[in-house]
Amino acid sequence: MSRIFSNKYRLRLSLFLLFLSFVFSAGLVHGADSFQGKTEKELETHLEVLMADSQKTPLDIIDELDMLIALSQESEWQSAYLSAATLKVEKLASINKFPQAEALLSLIYPNALATENETLQVRLDLVKLRIIEQDGQTKALYDQFNTLLDTAKRLPNQRLAGSVYLAVGRAQSKVTDYANALDSLLKAYQIAERIDDLSFLDVVMNAIGNVNVRMRNFDDAILYYQRSLKNSQLKDAKYTQIVTLYNIGQAQTGNQDYEGARQSFNEGLKICEEIGDTNSAPWLRRGLADLAIAEGNWDQAIDIYKTILPDFEKSSRKQAIFNIVNGLLTAYIGIGDAESAKTLMPRSEKLLESFPGRDNKIRVNLLKARLSALENNFEQAYELITDNTALIYADHEEKIKKEINKLSIQLDVETQKNENRRLIQKAEFQQLVIAQKEKQEWLWGLIIALALVLLIIIGFALYRQILLRNDFKAMAHRDHLTKSPNRRAILSFAKRSYKSVRKLNNPISICLLDLDKFKNLNDTYGHDLGDTVLVAFAEACKKSLRPEDGYGRYGGEEWLLVITNSNEEIAQTVLDRIKSNFAKAIIEGLPNPHNVTFSGGVEQFDGRRPESLDALIALADEKLYLAKESGRNKIVY
Ligand code: GH3
Ligand code: MG
Ligand code: MG
Repeated sequence: MSRIFSNKYRLRLSLFLLFLSFVFSAGLVHGADSFQGKTEKELETHLEVLMADSQKTPLDIIDELDMLIALSQESEWQSAYLSAATLKVEKLASINKFPQAEALLSLIYPNALATENETLQVRLDLVKLRIIEQDGQTKALYDQFNTLLDTAKRLPNQRLAGSVYLAVGRAQSKVTDYANALDSLLKAYQIAERIDDLSFLDVVMNAIGNVNVRMRNFDDAILYYQRSLKNSQLKDAKYTQIVTLYNIGQAQTGNQDYEGARQSFNEGLKICEEIGDTNSAPWLRRGLADLAIAEGNWDQAIDIYKTILPDFEKSSRKQAIFNIVNGLLTAYIGIGDAESAKTLMPRSEKLLESFPGRDNKIRVNLLKARLSALENNFEQAYELITDNTALIYADHEEKIKKEINKLSIQLDVETQKNENRRLIQKAEFQQLVIAQKEKQEWLWGLIIALALVLLIIIGFALYRQILLRNDFKAMAHRDHLTKSPNRRAILSFAKRSYKSVRKLNNPISICLLDLDKFKNLNDTYGHDLGDTVLVAFAEACKKSLRPEDGYGRYGGEEWLLVITNSNEEIAQTVLDRIKSNFAKAIIEGLPNPHNVTFSGGVEQFDGRRPESLDALIALADEKLYLAKESGRNKIVY
């Protein structure tokens, strides 16, 4: 007898059964039509085949399921009907048809509860989680977390319990509930180890790594990714290795371990080449380009981004294209290539329409501001930065609101839990109320502390924006070379002074000064020396004027002065002082004393004529012309 069960027979028997089941299932996958006349059990076996089918699209499977659902309803097959409908709910959710999924789910959920089939119930609960997730962080979501975690605790099927922990952990991470997410994922991890399921372990370790990246715990993330990598190396699962190496590289970049990141990306690229995976290679190259950006290797970044851009364009991955375009812009601005940046900017602005998130808006605005600054258009840079300040403020405000909302939901859930316990255990009533109060107080304390921390962060971000804004503002009114007020600044001062003359009855003098034969000086001694002379002249003006007067570089070597509260005599005193201070200036590269001179035209304004500041300046200019005509080194009043 025992010979029948020897290994040889067992092998033959199982091969025969395998053959039978192959023939059987090959017949089944022809479609539902062939089901007429078959049994409920056969239909359920076919559903299992369908569930594992990775060739058909979800829509094809849904079509087929509709026929099977109709058939089992006709035949009054309760169990087959439930299995088919559950699979349909899952497939609908997988293609984001959440309203339809929800409708069918609520229809069959009571039936599923009535059966003893725990697997079906859990599968439906997991879809329910995905549907609730769509509404963001709500009390319903946290309730569903608790329901699922309770279920997982008592499920006899460990693999199923593991996938529940995994799903809940991922969802908790999505709503930034990282501490609980790690808790759930670690439970999945323990199960995966206990049942020794290496593929599941891989998935879980990558999920734990991802949560750690989101928490910016890059060291821990790398640790888990590396364990997963070792696993997939043991199994020789090349594709998983590539994905994990990409994750490792990203985490190392975040950790500023640029050398390590480069090695990981390159190792991934080597495997891509080995197995001819042309889809993953551009992602790894993008990692290398982002790395070049982090290190300020602009040329290298530009090279890589340019080669991979067509790959992403082919598969029209807009998000990735948007990132690459912004990376390119950063690099162009980095090397000071304003021309290329200007040509590319409209593309980034266009893509922004598809990803209108505030973070993206801030990023593009900052790039635009830096480009404007590169082109010396500080006024525009200043406006863009002001825009960003408002955006950043709104962003932080929203984050605080979310954080507070999350905590108050948790508080609700906690309160309700305690409430339930209180009803069950009346004896501990008093104690529980106290504990509950303490917990509430503690949570509220946490909410307040968190809000305070966030406020400090906002304050700091705003402070930095304001500093930046003031820098731009100062730059917009200062002449680069001489650090004196520029044309815009002195004209605005002149406008204000011109207006105040009538009001306060304090005459002003407008002077236009121009260095003599400056072109000759440049030609003889060089442009750099010309620059030095301009700086010396600016210093002489600054030193000689009274605090209430104004001056500024009006054009190349031409200066506009506003001498307030002055008649011709005062103007003359001030200009004499400039003349003497400038003559005394020691200018390296010129003989001491030097013989650079200037001419000027001065016009008084006592509130009567002319009608405008422009006309007043034009009159001073005419006098400057006369001074030049009559031999230079002269002031005409
Ligand atoms: P005039 O006495 O009639 O004013 O003769 P000029 O040579 O001073 O006048 P012109 O307007 O012919 O030339 C002005 C020169 O000033 C030409 C330009 O190269 C030079 N210049 C303008 N801005 C700068 C500058 O920022 N640095 C230097 N080094 N030279 C400048
Ligand atoms: Mg001149
Ligand atoms: Mg001139």
